[in-house]
Amino acid sequence: MTDTTPSIERLVLIGIGLIGGSLARALKRMNAVEQVIGVARSRGTGDLALELGVIDRFCMDPGEAVEDASIVVIATPLLTFPVILDAIAKHLPIDAIVTDVGSVKQYVINAVKRHLPEHFERFVPGHPIAGTERSGVHASFAELFERRHVVLTPLPETTDAAVSLISDMWTKTGADVITMDGSYHDQVLAATSHLPHVIAYSLVRCLAEHPERDTLFEFAAGGFYDFTRIASSDPVMWRDICMTNREPILGALREFKSQLNAIIGAVEKEDNELLHQYFAQAKQARDAGLDVKKKNANRG
Ligand code: NAP
Repeated sequence: MTDTTPSIERLVLIGIGLIGGSLARALKRMNAVEQVIGVARSRGTGDLALELGVIDRFCMDPGEAVEDASIVVIATPLLTFPVILDAIAKHLPIDAIVTDVGSVKQYVINAVKRHLPEHFERFVPGHPIAGTERSGVHASFAELFERRHVVLTPLPETTDAAVSLISDMWTKTGADVITMDGSYHDQVLAATSHLPHVIAYSLVRCLAEHPERDTLFEFAAGGFYDFTRIASSDPVMWRDICMTNREPILGALREFKSQLNAIIGAVEKEDNELLHQYFAQAKQARDAGLDVKKKNANRG
């Protein structure tokens, strides 16, 4: 099913990786965009994105790229945002709508307030809760956002027209758009996404630093590789998430540490009953959480 007239005239995509590339592919598949202009650091990414039909034009300079933009989507690692915002500030058309896909929202909101103040009311912070452990434009695919949440965290200043345009853009990708407060988003994601990624990286390091590492990796079963799949994610992206969502992540890590201490205590004391209860309650909570998720998915 495709729309007949593209609703977005010129989409400028700063960052043509897994998320930016998948967004462009999804919008193109729905004939929802007339032209996609891509910006990346390397010409190789631009050439590949052109060859794959993800973008229609490539530009190395973000300022030049946004000159006729209708929508600008920033889809680069979080710590690049201040430099990119400075680079586009003087070139953005006054009526262009700016959005982003960054995994942390309060940091991005503060950066836009500081580096793009004239555009603040036409900036819609966004985060698609979708991804894989792969990165780069070659890993992008049009179906990535289907039936996945996209969280928008608009501010009181954000215009309704801007929110509705960006919400409409994501709906066309097959996503389910919800709105949330930016700091609340960061707390929720610290517990549900950032903590599991940090734990996966640290679990791999536990084996990697062991004197018998080769034997351990060879004998590690499917469970280990299932559990640590996300430790193959891009280290730059995860460094940036940890640096820009420090307090919520530290809170989640401290909570996790106290859970580990509870297990250490029970094993040290050989507290059979406590350990059984601990694991049984965790299993029950996980099964119940999955049931709710399945019911909601069937309803949608
Ligand atoms: P990615 O696949 O690694 O792609 C990043 C893109 O940004 C590449 O095209 C890269 O260009 C470009 N880039 C990096 N630094 C740049 C700079 N200084 N100027 C211009 N372009 C630059 O990353 P991704 O996974 O799509 O993640 C992008 C954003 O989405 C991040 O903010 C992340 O927090 C967010 N996000 C990621 C996921 C996920 O699961 N991956 C999910 C939701 C949100 P080159 O190719 O030339 O290096």
